[in-house]
Amino acid sequence: MQEITEPKDRLLLGPGPSNVNPRVIRAMTMPLMGYLDPTFLGVMGDVVELLRTAFRTKNDFTLALSGTGTSGMEASLINILESGDTVVVAINGVFGLRIADIAGRCGANVVTVDAGWGSPIDIGLVKQALENLDKVKLVAAVHVETSTGVVQPMQPLAELAHAKGALFLADAVTSLGGVDVRIDDWGIDICYSATQKCVGSPPGMSPITLSPNAVEAMRSRQNKVQSFYLDLQLLEKYWLTDHVYHHTASMSMIYGLREALLMLVEEGLEDRFARHSLNAQALKAGLRELGMGVLAEEEFQAPQLTAALIPEGLDEAKVRRALLNEYGIEIGGGLGSLAGKVWRIGLMGESSKSSHVLNLLQALESLLARENYKFDVGSSLSAAQKVFAS
Ligand SMILES: *Cc1c(COP(=O)(O)O)cnc(C)c1O
Repeated sequence: MQEITEPKDRLLLGPGPSNVNPRVIRAMTMPLMGYLDPTFLGVMGDVVELLRTAFRTKNDFTLALSGTGTSGMEASLINILESGDTVVVAINGVFGLRIADIAGRCGANVVTVDAGWGSPIDIGLVKQALENLDKVKLVAAVHVETSTGVVQPMQPLAELAHAKGALFLADAVTSLGGVDVRIDDWGIDICYSATQKCVGSPPGMSPITLSPNAVEAMRSRQNKVQSFYLDLQLLEKYWLTDHVYHHTASMSMIYGLREALLMLVEEGLEDRFARHSLNAQALKAGLRELGMGVLAEEEFQAPQLTAALIPEGLDEAKVRRALLNEYGIEIGGGLGSLAGKVWRIGLMGESSKSSHVLNLLQALESLLARENYKFDVGSSLSAAQKVFAS
């Protein structure tokens, strides 16, 4: 049998997963317990409290699903929507498309409001779509679209939804822990995230929070949710109220999530957002020297995910492969129509560090020089350093 060799350490600067602090990995090695062990229930209670802080919410219904970000998306939609309900989905990238896909599987009447990939959603078009519809159950949008690096303002969409008597759902998979997410202040009714992007633990859990109105909508369903595993009312009984068995908790993942959230609170939300912002500014200053602009307009650029425009004629896949093989650095390629056109560079959570920005630029300079690509040697590093010194 072939010997299994441990993969080399990677610097994860793609669209997720991001790197994880050793403190989180150590926490994941804590002893296993029964899923109703009072000590473990205490750990779950901590996670709920910490998630409320991260989400800036007082929502009673706050917990973490066993599953990646898509489980949060699926749970949100299947617990709220029933066959025949109308949902308006804003789409400007891969994850908006996925929301519309899942909503369609619920038998909902899916109305989409589309924008170009790299552009924000036009609020006027959402308003128009809502005016043209009779009754709308839900409006859904992605906060940070990881396929394009666009951050979409959530509050105006929430206000439009509420004016129509609809609930508002926000995908905060990439935003939570990297930019501000204000559930209560912005009027977000349903929000899910994931652990492996800006939260700082490995992939495998999906934090989720529901406003009292969303809980009410869920309780007044006509039919049972088709999925047992993702039935939020059953999960509520395990996580939040009676602590009755539903499924065996993913204990090690929950230990890891708790530690990552503790680190987030220790750092402080504002300082954490400032760190993400500064590192992104430095990265973009460096890329500019290499002749690379950013897909999104400045006002809508997400600090945790930069979609960098690849110069004409560069064999981008070759450079990306060399980055991985020779430097152990992962960055992402473009998805769908953006394949070959952008690099998706993530500076998320533990991966958002000034030293990583400098290492990436250094590696890129070496590889681009090898491709006979023209730029001023050292210019990207000094541009980034200037941002860090300012
Ligand atoms: C990554 C991502 C998802 C899906 O999460 P998985 O953990 O891959 O299941 C959903 N929405 C957005 C915005 C994402 O970036």
